[in-house]
Amino acid sequence: MRQLFKNFLYVFLVLLLVAGVLGMLKVGDTKKPEVIDISKLVTEINAGAVQKVVVAGDIVQVTLKDPAAKAQEVKKEPTESFGELLKNYGATDEARKNLAIEIKDESSWKFWVSNLVPALLPLIIIMVFLYFMTRSVQGSNNRAMGFGQSNPREVKPEENKEKKTFADVAGAREAKNELEEVVGFLRDPKKFADMGAKIPKGVLLMGAPGTGKTLLAKAVAGEANVPFFHMSGSEFVEMFVGVGASRVRDLFGKAKKAAPAIIFIDEIDAVGRRRGTGLGGGHDEREQTLNQILVEMDGFEPNLGVIVMAATNRPDVLDPALLRPGRFDRRVVIDMPDIQDREEILKIHAIGKPIGEEVSLRKLAERTPGFTGADLANLLNEAAILAVRRNKNIVSEDEILESVEKVLLGPERKSRIISEQEKKMTAYHEAGHAVVGHFMVHGDPIRKVSIISRGNAGGYTLKMPTEDKHYHTLAQFKDELAMMMGGYIVEKMIFGDEMISTGPSSDLRNATRVARDMVMRYGMSDKLGARTYGEREEMIFLGKEIHEQQDYSDKTAELIDKEVGEILAEAEKRARETVSANREALEKIVVALMEKETIEQEEIEAILGARPTV
Ligand code: ADP
Ligand code: MG
Ligand code: ZN
Repeated sequence: MRQLFKNFLYVFLVLLLVAGVLGMLKVGDTKKPEVIDISKLVTEINAGAVQKVVVAGDIVQVTLKDPAAKAQEVKKEPTESFGELLKNYGATDEARKNLAIEIKDESSWKFWVSNLVPALLPLIIIMVFLYFMTRSVQGSNNRAMGFGQSNPREVKPEENKEKKTFADVAGAREAKNELEEVVGFLRDPKKFADMGAKIPKGVLLMGAPGTGKTLLAKAVAGEANVPFFHMSGSEFVEMFVGVGASRVRDLFGKAKKAAPAIIFIDEIDAVGRRRGTGLGGGHDEREQTLNQILVEMDGFEPNLGVIVMAATNRPDVLDPALLRPGRFDRRVVIDMPDIQDREEILKIHAIGKPIGEEVSLRKLAERTPGFTGADLANLLNEAAILAVRRNKNIVSEDEILESVEKVLLGPERKSRIISEQEKKMTAYHEAGHAVVGHFMVHGDPIRKVSIISRGNAGGYTLKMPTEDKHYHTLAQFKDELAMMMGGYIVEKMIFGDEMISTGPSSDLRNATRVARDMVMRYGMSDKLGARTYGEREEMIFLGKEIHEQQDYSDKTAELIDKEVGEILAEAEKRARETVSANREALEKIVVALMEKETIEQEEIEAILGARPTV
């Protein structure tokens, strides 16, 4: 289509040029005629001075008998014939008879050009405009009009001047470990193919904005030394209808040719949102693009050596089809950096900046809870800029502290700011979960406690399942409930009833749900007996929703509420007793959390002692 268009344009331009040149030649060999009016011509004719007239359309060319005289030209109205005209202006019959008149065919090029060009000009302008527009859409880098950057940017390993490696990424240890495997696949896909192992096709990087997802993807390409095709989900959406899908085809086609290679789709949630909910208005272009991504991922053989990496900070809105096996079935979570990570990130970004000796990066890491990698990089950069503005040759503590504030208040920052008080509250809350969880022997051991925010939660306590469980026992449910209550209880005990925060609300909701299920679905309440309550049906309406129908009397409902209340009250009591019996250990965990922000299983066990066995 574009080719055709281009050719057409060229042909047209050439024609125009030829016409122009011809016109100039013609003018050149006749000399410029003198333009006269009709009455003068008629006078000349009557006087017998005219040798010949040539009528070409509405132009009358006059040749005089006197060879030294200049040629003359008369314009006439196109509707009037030349004969009539002479008569009207009073040329004598005698003179007219003696006059040699030649009528030339109207269809000269001049006629066409003079009539068509004005009509075609707007069309030509529009076509030229369109031509440049399509060019800039396809053009590789920031071309005019904001349509740029739509082509996948290919970064070849040998041309990559700012090559990134894992050494450029501080912290994110777990993510790096997992991605090391991906690097292995890319370095030697054949090795895995020979073993009959299937290389994963898709890796999804999940993490808050600024935690280094894009950086990690680049580092994987750098480590594996393979070409890197970079495209952002939002760029697909900006495009004209139908362009997104073809661009995806193009992207995968190029990557396959370059295999082993990495395709990186940044911000995939822009195209990969759950389809067909009808919420927020359908977006056909987006769906087509997403479908094309799915088709392409299904289409290539697993051991081709092309790995699709994608990044998102909204894994919750992704279409489930993307997460199906054979697509993005590898998921790598990138956590917010803890103190240790923050210090390492600062070290990386301090390289090349003359930073004063009095500045302690460790202290700076302590002062910046809730900062992402991007925030920290930004912080040091701001400090350096400030130092330059103050004509200093070293970045001193002053600039750094000012920049902390600047970044805190800055508009770009999306992550949460955590105050010291909030941090303390979170530490007690999570320590509560940890202490109770540790002593609830039917539950799983605590693997990690952190006061780094994740999603909406201020912190988290992770348990490690020791074995795959398909069934839950009553004892396990009870232990789980007690642990869920741990955070709430501790907040109440330490900060008082007045100071209880909104923090534990999701704990309480989850606990209530578990307790209700125990009573209504699993027959775990003696009073209500061995039956289920409530008819559950899953309805597909605006996504997914579980609808429950009451198939019991209101009196039973009251009983259910009472039972649920009792189960929760018991859990609360167990949590309170456990915490009271271990107040010292609780404080120790809080201290450790305030200092390190994340503590692992070994340290928890060192503080709380070995876990009692069942
Ligand atoms: P995301 O894609 O997750 O939003 P980016 O990868 O774009 O974040 O990170 C932005 C910048 O922040 C990076 O270019 C880098 O300078 C810095 N950064 C983020 N995380 C780290 C990290 N773990 N180590 C070093 N620098 C980091
Ligand atoms: Mg990014
Ligand atoms: Zn909690």
